[in-house]
Amino acid sequence: MADGSLGIPGPRRLENDVTIPPGNADGTIAVDVHGLTKAYPDVRAVQGIDLRIQRGEIFALVGPNGAGKTTTVEILEGYRARDGGSVTVLGYDPGRHRQRLKSQIGIVLQSTGVDRYLTVAETIAMYASYYPDPRPVDEVVDLVGLGPKRDARVIKLSGGQQRRLDVAIALAGNPELLFLDEPTTGFDPSARHEAWEVVRNLAVLGKTVLLTTHYMDEAQFLADRVAVISAGRIVAEGPPATLGGRDMARARIRYRLPAGTAPPRGMAGPADADGFTEFAPDDLTEALHRLTGWAIDQGTSIDGLEVIRPSLEDIYLALTGPQAGPRHDAQSAAAAVAEASGS
Ligand code: ATP
Repeated sequence: MADGSLGIPGPRRLENDVTIPPGNADGTIAVDVHGLTKAYPDVRAVQGIDLRIQRGEIFALVGPNGAGKTTTVEILEGYRARDGGSVTVLGYDPGRHRQRLKSQIGIVLQSTGVDRYLTVAETIAMYASYYPDPRPVDEVVDLVGLGPKRDARVIKLSGGQQRRLDVAIALAGNPELLFLDEPTTGFDPSARHEAWEVVRNLAVLGKTVLLTTHYMDEAQFLADRVAVISAGRIVAEGPPATLGGRDMARARIRYRLPAGTAPPRGMAGPADADGFTEFAPDDLTEALHRLTGWAIDQGTSIDGLEVIRPSLEDIYLALTGPQAGPRHDAQSAAAAVAEASGS
């Protein structure tokens, strides 16, 4: 798959053993994966994945439990051998140049084991000392928002602050590329938003971030592009706003009228238990104009008027849920969502 089927020439080798993926002579591609496969004794965990992540991009890999995310990411990190396909990360094949790659990537695991009696700054300094060109400790402390806790012992940090420290550790070596594995699992809502700001800061620094997450709002907020992986295959990929034809899906209008008031012609749908009615107009602007004009003319109040489009989570569930079907067709996701909602 590295060549033929996509019509893309194979990777080019340089004398120093760095691999330059085709079309990446200026090094703008951080991760380039073609036809990646990996099987364990009982399962074909990765079944032909193609991925291309630009430098400076925040890329989210989402998918149900067991979809193959961790296997894919571990292959990219150089921690797991692949069976087939080609993989280039920052110009290196992680299967062959793990040591060289190691100094240029940062990995934030779900929990990093650190000495709980060191301070924040001491911990970061210790990790920084493993790298040839580390980022100054205080810069890292500020980047992750741990300035006020610089001299606090790790044991005294809250869960959210420890997670920030995990990110700081990954940043200590000043890596080009960061792998974030479910960076906000178990966080309270405000800690999640703070962590998102930390990730956004990384993007401002021009870092490339590959994150895995189970939270669609996280992918929506952070990612430039999202890939949905299901049963070892990528079933949709694109910016969160357009993934799976989301932007093309028909909008629905939802509203409620006072008890006993009949809705205007052509604007009724089945009412739910709370008396809200929903319908999918052909022309959204015209329908909204007609509905609100009618309400003003009648002196009727419209309660909870909303325009609804499928969320990223709706699209995700349509692509990966039990009724996703064998087609795995991204464009069908928006249609499936619309069908499920009765429009
Ligand atoms: P989760 O969201 O639960 O972390 P995931 O998408 O990261 O899941 P993987 O951990 O890559 O999925 O697992 C993919 C499949 O490979 C699963 O069926 C899993 O049981 C299997 N698998 C993963 N690691 C191994 C292993 N070391 N040996 C055997 N099977 C494995």
